[in-house]
Amino acid sequence: MGDIDEVKNRTNITDIIGARVTLKKAGRHWKALCPFHSEKTPSFIVSPERQSWKCFGCGKGGSVIDFVMENERVDFVEALTSLAEKAGVKLERRMADTPETKLKEKIIAANHLASEYYQYLLTKHTIGEKAREYLKNRGVTEKTIKSFALGYSANSWDGLLKYLKKKGFDESLLDQAGLIVPSNRGGYDRFRGRVMFTLKDHRGNVVGFSGRLLDPDAKEAKYINTSETLVYSKSNVLYGLDVTKAAIQKEGEAIVMEGEFDVISSFQAGVGNAVAIKGSALTEGHVNLLRRFADRLILSLDSDLAGDAAARRGIEIADRAGLDLRVASMPVGKDPDDAARESPVLFKKALKAAEPIYDYFIASAIKRYDAHDAFGKRKISDELIPVISKIENPIVQGHYVKKLALALDVSEDAIQDGMRKLIRTQRVGKKEEDGGGAEETKKGRGREENLEIYVLAILLQGKTIELYEELKEQLRLTDFTIRPARQIVEHLDHYLADHRIFLIKDFADQLPRELESSFDEAFLWDMADILDDGERLSREWTKALSELKRAHLRRRMHALSKELVGDIPSHREQELQDELRGLTDTLKSLDNPR
Ligand code: ATP
Ligand code: MN
Repeated sequence: MGDIDEVKNRTNITDIIGARVTLKKAGRHWKALCPFHSEKTPSFIVSPERQSWKCFGCGKGGSVIDFVMENERVDFVEALTSLAEKAGVKLERRMADTPETKLKEKIIAANHLASEYYQYLLTKHTIGEKAREYLKNRGVTEKTIKSFALGYSANSWDGLLKYLKKKGFDESLLDQAGLIVPSNRGGYDRFRGRVMFTLKDHRGNVVGFSGRLLDPDAKEAKYINTSETLVYSKSNVLYGLDVTKAAIQKEGEAIVMEGEFDVISSFQAGVGNAVAIKGSALTEGHVNLLRRFADRLILSLDSDLAGDAAARRGIEIADRAGLDLRVASMPVGKDPDDAARESPVLFKKALKAAEPIYDYFIASAIKRYDAHDAFGKRKISDELIPVISKIENPIVQGHYVKKLALALDVSEDAIQDGMRKLIRTQRVGKKEEDGGGAEETKKGRGREENLEIYVLAILLQGKTIELYEELKEQLRLTDFTIRPARQIVEHLDHYLADHRIFLIKDFADQLPRELESSFDEAFLWDMADILDDGERLSREWTKALSELKRAHLRRRMHALSKELVGDIPSHREQELQDELRGLTDTLKSLDNPR
């Protein structure tokens, strides 16, 4: 058995989760107020049988390891290790034993020494004089130099190379660390004549560097960074996080800036919860890292976010993660570095005045186009409708639909219409892209699709064998329109053909992994009160089945009437009319059962 299964087997999910929230028995499950979003009625369900949990409010869920990752904001290995300790499991495969992790450790060790070397040159050596002067002129204090491990790379070809060779690192490793540039006459230092910023991950490992030119006349890039290495990927590292993490966690808020000096000057001005994305776009990696420590992000970036597709992508990711996103604007032509040094008071005020991202988007578009003429309105709505249509929370979305309608002086319906059109074209594009194959996302489903999960929920949690007999009489497999729901029913059909009793755990174990989350969604659906009341259960079941059937009929009728409007031969028209009449009758009889 692998480490992961061993830990899961020896851990009781209700103990771990019960230590964090108050669990109440609800039929075969346990129920609680979700610890990951605020709610007044419990929608957080734990299943001891499945050893899994799911919140039907915020959509999060998974195994006990996922719970610890979410709750303690740690990564997978950290969560596994902590659970292993609690359960008294000794992890077999030490993570440090693979060749890759060994190489990573070596790279990090070389980077650590390089950082110390650069710091030494800056703070102690005569060679660092000019750099010291430069930082002083930019208002950077000695204390900050220490806290952020700032350094200087001498303007020579092989200072660092020689030093690290003496320390026992070979050229090939230093190349893999991105510290030197290989060449057939021997490698040379990548960073030369630059103020050095040490890049660390949030645990404090030195993963890379960026360096800023001292000489304003040099014909090189102002900033250069470590290239991607085994330990450094720019979309997963945030400058300053190792220093500012504690403040970010304490305030539950992170301020995202562009450059290293922005973070440093903010820090000196008393704003200790900033990080920099270093001129790149906000990525999913960045967002996932930050949401471990904060639930609010204040973006204070140089570029105009609204016009920037890459920035919008990051914003979508953060929105989906449920983060509160705001934008703080600096005075025109100033970056946070300038603003923080000019006036810490005004700088903090500007950060406090950060506006919700969607207000910012609307204001920005209205500034750029004329909201009074038709052409301007079109430009503005072309830019904003895609943004608003992606807002996850329907109430927030409604708010901005209204706001945009007001700003453009059009009806809310017009905006809603635009959103529907957009979603339709996207849906067509998406279907073609993945052949309709991918599992539909849980969120944003229509009533009909939730209904299918609901039918599954009753089916799996009630007397499955009897209920399934009834379902088979009334429905066909094709009545299920979401693929995972249909596939689960298909699996159930096979299972029941082979087994005379239904064991939920046994059934769940033989489901393919990709159906697991849909299965849990149905199996953990809270229906303890219905299950206890036989009469009510049978009423709910009948109702749900007939609703599903009705939904299918309506879809069929819709397709028929669409065909009818087209150019068709008269015999076909007759056929369609007949079928349509038949369907209408069936639908009527469903509506008024005798
Ligand atoms: P300074 O105040 O030192 O001139 P800045 O932060 O105002 O720097 P910008 O030109 O606004 O500089 O760049 C923002 C950030 O983007 C920089 O801090 C740096 O991290 C990154 N950056 C800038 N130029 C480059 C480059 N040529 N290659 C890689 N990264 C860069
Ligand atoms: Mn600047």
